[in-house]
Amino acid sequence: MNTIVSGNINKALFVDRDGVINREKDYVCRVEDFEFIAGVMEALKKVAVLGYKIIVISNQAGIARGYYSEEDFHRITEWMRGEFRKKGVEVTDVYYDPTHPEYGTGKYKRVSARRKPAPGMILDAVRDHRINLQQSALVGDKLTDIEAGRRAGVKHLFLVRTGHPFRDEEVPAGVKIVEDLREVAEKLKNIE
Ligand SMILES: [Mg+2]
Repeated sequence: MNTIVSGNINKALFVDRDGVINREKDYVCRVEDFEFIAGVMEALKKVAVLGYKIIVISNQAGIARGYYSEEDFHRITEWMRGEFRKKGVEVTDVYYDPTHPEYGTGKYKRVSARRKPAPGMILDAVRDHRINLQQSALVGDKLTDIEAGRRAGVKHLFLVRTGHPFRDEEVPAGVKIVEDLREVAEKLKNIE
């Protein structure tokens, strides 16, 4: 474990997908339903210029529920990465968890150490991309995103208002509430 930690030199912005990058609709799995939230391209470009790797971390219970397949998810993910690439934004990696402990069918019905609020996907990314969590940030639209970041040990936690509604008083201390990814990019500029 120590060897992994000591070699971790990269900083990352861990980004939830639905409600942060694209408009929250029920189980988005088709390109025609994928609607980028205004300003996300420019925002993530700024974040990348600041030296952060952009890593998407997404629960995909729609796969567990049988609404779409892992293949469908890969297809829309490649399309999304292509759209970012056209704007000069490289998404370093995309992690997803296809399970649901109650509503999953077949092999997808199980408790997963990767499904948020568990920190597994973030910890996998830390290992795969040598991420230093003390220099990293996470942005989500649900408290379960924030909880995953907290459990993993991500230093800066942002909750956006572009997705799932929440009441400000339930947001844990230390979490920064922001309008959208644009504001995250602004805030990251002033960190350190
Ligand atoms: Mg979300």
